[in-house]
Amino acid sequence: MERVTIFDTTLRDGEQSPGASMSVEQKLEVASQLARLGVDVIEAGFPISSPHQLEGCRLIADQVKGPAIAVLARALEKDIDCAADALRNAEHSRIHTFLATSPIHMEYKLRKKPEEVLAMAEKAVRYARNKVAEVEFSPEDGTRSEIPFLCRVLEKVIDAGARILNIPDTVGYTTPGEFSEFLRKIFEGTPNIHKAVVSVHCHNDLGLAVANSVAAVLAGARQVEVTVNGIGERAGNASLEEFVMALTVRKDILPFSVGVNTKQIWNTSRLVASITGFPIPRNKPITGENAFAHEAGIHQDGVLKKRETYEIMTPESVGRDVSQLVLGRHSGLHGFRNRLAELGMPLLDEEANKAYARFLEIADRKKEVYDDDLYVIVSDHLGKETETYSLDYFNIQSGNVAVPTATVRILSGGGRFEEAATGDGPVDAIFNAIDRSLGLSTKLLEYVVQAVTPGRQAIGEVSVSVEIDARKFVGRGASTDILEASARAYVNALNRWKAYQAARKGDRKEENEEHDAV
Ligand SMILES: [Zn+2]
Repeated sequence: MERVTIFDTTLRDGEQSPGASMSVEQKLEVASQLARLGVDVIEAGFPISSPHQLEGCRLIADQVKGPAIAVLARALEKDIDCAADALRNAEHSRIHTFLATSPIHMEYKLRKKPEEVLAMAEKAVRYARNKVAEVEFSPEDGTRSEIPFLCRVLEKVIDAGARILNIPDTVGYTTPGEFSEFLRKIFEGTPNIHKAVVSVHCHNDLGLAVANSVAAVLAGARQVEVTVNGIGERAGNASLEEFVMALTVRKDILPFSVGVNTKQIWNTSRLVASITGFPIPRNKPITGENAFAHEAGIHQDGVLKKRETYEIMTPESVGRDVSQLVLGRHSGLHGFRNRLAELGMPLLDEEANKAYARFLEIADRKKEVYDDDLYVIVSDHLGKETETYSLDYFNIQSGNVAVPTATVRILSGGGRFEEAATGDGPVDAIFNAIDRSLGLSTKLLEYVVQAVTPGRQAIGEVSVSVEIDARKFVGRGASTDILEASARAYVNALNRWKAYQAARKGDRKEENEEHDAV
């Protein structure tokens, strides 16, 4: 069987989704889990776009061993120098450089003639090749480029030393049949293409990202770029778990192997959801809560008689352990940490102690603590030490005749900020009190409550999306008390806003113009 390389761009393209920005520590956590999952390449970020990006890429290149570490660079010397610097200590490094080749991008965005673009691509690849052993080149907006010109560009960059040619469907416009045909023409029109690996990078604007990626592999592509949970620009990228499981389940017609350990899929998906604050939809293929739930009586009956009647893959094959280990208030710190390590969340001492204290609080109110609960408990604590605000206490007066009134106290930088406010309901009152205590003016865009595990004592998880300074920030909070979960979610969104501000301090503004890369 031929091997397909899995290139994960959760930390680069995924992190670009509005509201998904991660702290440097959180990126390292995700990268470490991607290494355990067994992806071949981790795209760690776009180093020149900000000091925060550079720091994240450097940390991952220094500490994560196993997969190749790739970073993005425009076809400019200063970008490539910065990329090479970020990768200095990587075990296996790759520079991923890109340049637009579609008529619309060349004319309106780059304001360059095709011949100039050709020369620029070649020069950039040669320059990068002198810095690292492996260079990937992406013609941005590839699927809307003219094929003869695209083939000329590819031929030149291969001669200049590029060994991976990535064809991005940047705007998510192509379809499986059209994309196969497009790739066929590229293979045909580029004489030296056998010297390189063809890769694809599909966006999901029409919900076709995974289908297009599968079609591409059948047409000869041997690297596929994906993200965990399919997060990414706009409607996202091809989802890692869906693509990998399509290849695994349909080996009969897709005879390709991948290096991913599918049993790590469930953990990875939960970890990324917790860290980014983007919940996994219930009906999401492979990792959604309902992905393996049979509701119709006739289906349940069939599955009980013989699983394969309605099940094309088992939950165990993606690491969803049905016989979950249940922890309770008598579980010790040691058992707690062991279980977290098994779930792919090894914590440092201090983090573990804090998370354990929170676990005990929850175990006191809720007798049985499930794996899914552990994900939310831990993600509540990741990167906490760098947070600006913390919720010290809240009190709420509410009822069917009284006007809901909330009092909150927020701690920040040694200060205590306390205020009371009323609202249309208790949640609204809490949010108003928080805004007032910090002197903020925000707009709540979205509020979603979900039970993490079944039962009346379930942990409720609240996701909010808040607009501050004309940007959207997502926050998550969990508790057995829904009002407390709401307050935590809101404070979490405010912390992401603060982290975003801190990360962008010192950004070179003009460098960000093309941040929406490939
Ligand atoms: Zn992309």
